[in-house]
Amino acid sequence: MITRKLFLHFPKCETEKPIVYHLVKDYRLIINIFRAKVTPDEEGYLVLDVTGEEADIERGMEFVKGFDVTIDPVNKGVRWNQERCTHCGNCLGHCPTHALRLGDAAARTLVFVEEACIECLSCLGNCPFGACSSAF
Ligand code: SF4
Ligand code: SF4
Repeated sequence: MITRKLFLHFPKCETEKPIVYHLVKDYRLIINIFRAKVTPDEEGYLVLDVTGEEADIERGMEFVKGFDVTIDPVNKGVRWNQERCTHCGNCLGHCPTHALRLGDAAARTLVFVEEACIECLSCLGNCPFGACSSAF
């Protein structure tokens, strides 16, 4: 079993379809949705973990792509801008999963471990330098 964190973008015409239901039922995938949003123009965004056998995940993603849904394994819902980060450490106590953590304790430099991020958005309001942002 493996887990992949994915960012899905649904075009307007696909937001009503029960795609997640089919991923669970037909492809035996475990879906953990972190964040979902339908924008005013009715596009949809979904950030989720997909867990299952690698072959089932591949087949499930092929099924999803058939609906013109864009799957982006790189583009995450929460982004950390390394250029903006001053390594002030203010976010450290506000990140529940330590996705934002010290990479080098001696130098006190911060790193962002995307796999650990649960999209709680706490860092957005707790970074005085705007280094953390949301894709939607
Ligand atoms: S969104 Fe939450 S879990 Fe992710 S880096 Fe920010 S504080 Fe940590
Ligand atoms: S609060 Fe912002 S600037 Fe400070 S360490 Fe965290 S991400 Fe970097």
